[in-house]
Amino acid sequence: MTTAVVVGSGPNGLTAAVELARAGCEVHVVEAADTIGGGARSSEMLRPGIIHDHCSAVHPLGAGSPALRALGLDEYGLRWRRPELDCVHPLPDGRAGVLHRSVAQTAAGLGRDGEAWRDMIGGVAEDFDQLAPDALGPMLSIPQHPVLLAEFGHRALYSATVLARVFRTDEARALFAGVAAHAFTRLDRPGSAAAGLMLLGAGHRYGWPVAEGGSSAIVTALAAALIDAGGTITTRQRVTDIAEVEPADVILLDVMPGAAAGMLGDRLSPRMFRRFTRYRHGPAAFKVDYLVDGEVGWTNEDCRRAGTVHLGGDIAEIAASEAESVSGRMPRRPFTLVAQQWLADPSRSPGRVKPLWAYAHVPQGFTGDATDAISAQIERFAPGFRTRIVASVSTSPADLERVNPNLVGGDIGGGRNDLKHLLARPRLSSNPYATGVEGVYLCSSATPPGGGVHGMCGHHAARAALSYLGQ
Ligand SMILES: Cc1cc2nc3c(=O)[nH]c(=O)nc-3n(C[C@H](O)[C@H](O)[C@H](O)COP(=O)(O)OP(=O)(O)OC[C@H]3O[C@@H](n4cnc5c(N)ncnc54)[C@H](O)[C@@H]3O)c2cc1C
Repeated sequence: MTTAVVVGSGPNGLTAAVELARAGCEVHVVEAADTIGGGARSSEMLRPGIIHDHCSAVHPLGAGSPALRALGLDEYGLRWRRPELDCVHPLPDGRAGVLHRSVAQTAAGLGRDGEAWRDMIGGVAEDFDQLAPDALGPMLSIPQHPVLLAEFGHRALYSATVLARVFRTDEARALFAGVAAHAFTRLDRPGSAAAGLMLLGAGHRYGWPVAEGGSSAIVTALAAALIDAGGTITTRQRVTDIAEVEPADVILLDVMPGAAAGMLGDRLSPRMFRRFTRYRHGPAAFKVDYLVDGEVGWTNEDCRRAGTVHLGGDIAEIAASEAESVSGRMPRRPFTLVAQQWLADPSRSPGRVKPLWAYAHVPQGFTGDATDAISAQIERFAPGFRTRIVASVSTSPADLERVNPNLVGGDIGGGRNDLKHLLARPRLSSNPYATGVEGVYLCSSATPPGGGVHGMCGHHAARAALSYLGQ
């Protein structure tokens, strides 16, 4: 029987593992941590019975991922739960841009920008199912829908700040910029509109859902599907040399290029070794998990019904703070993302005390404490917030990397999301998953299409490995 080893049990590693196992390979997954899941773990971090997501919380691309949808994870217990409002971006004066699941409702709420919203995002949402397999893959591959991809690519190559000029209201501009800022990149650089367009298109098609019971439900379902297909998993085994997991017909690495270079050493060509060891990482996340007594106390009423709240003021302020964190300076008011998962999934906290998830964009490797800056950013839009905090725990970039070596310097996006990495991740190739070492593939978010719990990197890497195996 053909054998496969997957190093790392993040969403990409597990997606690859399930696909290989279903194709008939005998698959073994090796995970360094005590528990599986990488960036999709959850636990009762602060108080029994109250579930916090350690990393990923909200999953427009997870729900819309062609790879995850094809795996039938609902049969293994995965349930997406959607909040009443997907995302709200409040402005300091109390107004807000509101993202509804429906394009028409979002457009109606944006008043004189409604038509521009429909023009810009409506098509991406409508065509999302055809677009996703092409747009969520390597840029050099042959697209199934070239016209749609060209239309999308034409807009995606703009900078977010230039594309946002089609809007006239502060609400629409801020709403778009806040979603584009998920890419952790300068919003005034070409290609910075891409992530925003994709997340908005996926959101209008599939919502911005959370996983019932915690994000770990996504990887629990993947692991169950793997075991059902005959696969096995070992935890607490950190691989430092590829020889530790040999022999196997194919080996897939759910790790960053630098770690892959360490494991493969001089089996990599000197050129590939240089490319992997010089792979560039993006800014970092600094995370704070709060327990809050009752509601957060948002000034804007819509924020009280939103699964996700983006805090960063208007587009100019967001672009400035993103530029600072990319260039290594800590912004005074860092762009901050907040999730209120319990609104969609009441099972997260049955009582009055709620688990609030928040992280801010900070410079790569930031060694300071951003807790106050994050609390202040929430307080700015929810006066009195600090008085509602029952407990909190902060996770610095170094803490993130300690728990998961893929989060290099706190980079949660699997590498810098500039134009170069949009096109060439970790290198320009129709098969960027191949390492050049026979039978060994990268399948982490350092490969196309990049960060997020969508499993598409794992899917493409598994396809590449199966093609090498002649399947
Ligand atoms: C704070 C935070 C918030 C986020 N929010 C969201 C969100 O809301 N929505 C979203 O879609 N995405 C979000 N993400 C991003 C998402 O979690 C990642 O993009 C995704 O998990 C990447 O999946 P992966 O399989 O490539 O890698 P990972 O999930 O990082 O998994 C890699 C796994 O490999 C293991 N590993 C690494 N090296 C070795 C080794 N040498 N030997 C054995 N095992 C090893 C690690 O322990 C880890 O379990 C967030 C991430 C963080 C950290």
